[in-house]
Amino acid sequence: MYKHLKDHRYYKELYDRLTVESARRGMSHYDTFYSEFESKLPVSEKVDKPGSAFLLNVFYMETVGSELLDRYENRDSKIQEWINRDRAKDEQISSARLAEEPSCQHCDKQGLRIIDKSLMHRGDAYEIDDPEEVLFMLRCPHCDKNSAFWEDGKERVDFSYRPAGTTVFYGTKVREQPDVDLNALCAHTPANSTFRADCIERYRRQYYGN
Ligand SMILES: [Zn+2]
Repeated sequence: MYKHLKDHRYYKELYDRLTVESARRGMSHYDTFYSEFESKLPVSEKVDKPGSAFLLNVFYMETVGSELLDRYENRDSKIQEWINRDRAKDEQISSARLAEEPSCQHCDKQGLRIIDKSLMHRGDAYEIDDPEEVLFMLRCPHCDKNSAFWEDGKERVDFSYRPAGTTVFYGTKVREQPDVDLNALCAHTPANSTFRADCIERYRRQYYGN
């Protein structure tokens, strides 16, 4: 069962990492502006002349400083927001119950055992921030195959957009190997970071099973 809530340090590091990236982007704009500004000054003038220094400072605040102040002020509340969001996801999963007893997607018998629950978007028309639903993975004791059902009892069949390929994990209704660019799905996380790795793992489980 995938756990969304992580320890406090994870969120602090993520926040600080994003702050650094944001500041780096800002500094890159600032440096470009600085070079251009300096190159346009008359030969006799220095960049630290009061008027120039003031202008550069204003530009610095616009491109870097204000954002940093903002991120500093909102740090605790944003981290708490992430924690609350992930805790709510875990609670949504743990409190989810199947609306009715499902029949095996392979042999149609009942008595399936829940082997996993996870949060996913249903269908393929969704935004990344849309609320997710709980998907149940069940193992059949009769044929030993897996079936997947949503909390409301509907089978997971929304794989039509996937290209033809090999049979994979979920029930008979899911025959095709998903062709998903996991890195693209996780582009909002810093490259080569643990956050990227976590994100990819999460989507890997979503699309390819355990
Ligand atoms: Zn079965």
